[in-house]
Amino acid sequence: MSHHYTRGTESDTRWCNACRRRTQFAVSAGRLGRCTEHDAPELTQEQKRRREREAQRRQNPSLFPDSLA
Ligand SMILES: [Zn+2]
Repeated sequence: MSHHYTRGTESDTRWCNACRRRTQFAVSAGRLGRCTEHDAPELTQEQKRRREREAQRRQNPSLFPDSLA
């Protein structure tokens, strides 16, 4: 299945498994991004970055040699 977004599209209503309802998803450069509702305001940008780093560290420990000890 393919979705095409026009350049001006900034959001789309999609089903969110986390919210268990239809929510607004961000669309950036024609690509569907994340749910803007459960993902949004309680997390600061820094908290999101830290979460992503932690997830990457768990998935690819070799990328973070200091975490091997
Ligand atoms: Zn959601």
